Amino acid sequence: MSAVRLVFLGPPGTGKGTQARRLATRFDLVAMSSGDVLRAEIKRDSEIGRSARQYVEGGTLVPDDVITGVMLAGIDQAPAGQGFILDGFPRTVPQAEALEVGLSARGQRLDGVLDFRMADHQIIERIVSRRVCSKCGATYNTRFAAPRVKGRCDACGGPLVQRIDDREEVIATRLATYRSLTAPLVEFYARQGILRGVDAAPGAEEVEAAVCAAIQELRRAP
Ligand code: AMP
Repeated sequence: MSAVRLVFLGPPGTGKGTQARRLATRFDLVAMSSGDVLRAEIKRDSEIGRSARQYVEGGTLVPDDVITGVMLAGIDQAPAGQGFILDGFPRTVPQAEALEVGLSARGQRLDGVLDFRMADHQIIERIVSRRVCSKCGATYNTRFAAPRVKGRCDACGGPLVQRIDDREEVIATRLATYRSLTAPLVEFYARQGILRGVDAAPGAEEVEAAVCAAIQELRRAP
C-alpha cells in the first residue's frame, strides 16, 4: 500500500501505538507518535522537551504550535512518496486545521482517520497495567501482553517502567482532556467523510484486521 496518509484518533490506552507500529511494518509506512516524539525531547532535555515536560507529566496538552511544528518537521523527514500514520496528532481542532494547511502546502492530504473506540473502564484497566522498556520503548501489559521475564524487555532486556502519566491519578486528567479537546475531531473528520470507527476492545490481531478492512474501504471510497 503506497503513500496512504492516516491519522489514528482515540483516547489514550486504546492501542493506537501498537496498531500504528503493526500497520507501518505491514504496509511500509512511517509511524509517528506525537507522545513518543515529546518523550524523546524530554529525555534529551532539549528546549522543546523542557517546555513540554510539565504538560506531559500532568496529562494536559502541550501548546498547539509546539506540537504542530514538531510533527510537520517529522512529516518532512519521511522519505518522499512514503505514506505515514500520525498517532496522537492532531489532538485539537486548531491542530487539525494546521495539519490540513501544512499538508496542502506540501501537495498532500489525509486519506483517512481511524477512531479507536473503547469504554473508559477498559481504558483505565489497560493503562494502569501498561509498562514500557526504558531502553527501546517497546510496550507491554502486565495483564494482557506480559514480557517473558517479569520486568524485562523481550527485545533488548532493558528494565520495564511505568510512564509517569500512566498512574491512576493522571489518567483521569488525560481522559477529561481527551473528551473536551480531542473528541470534537470525530465530528470534524466525519464531516470530511474520511472517518472510520474501530472497536479497539478485542485483542491486537482482531483489531489489526478491522483496521486493515477500514483502510481498504477508505481507499475504495470516491
Ligand atoms: P501519548 O503518548 O499520545 O498518550 O501522549 C502523552 C502526552 O504527550 C499527552 O498527554 C500530552 O501531554 C502530550 N501530547 C502528545 N500528543 C500531543 C498533541 N497532539 N498535542 C498536545 N500534546 C500532546
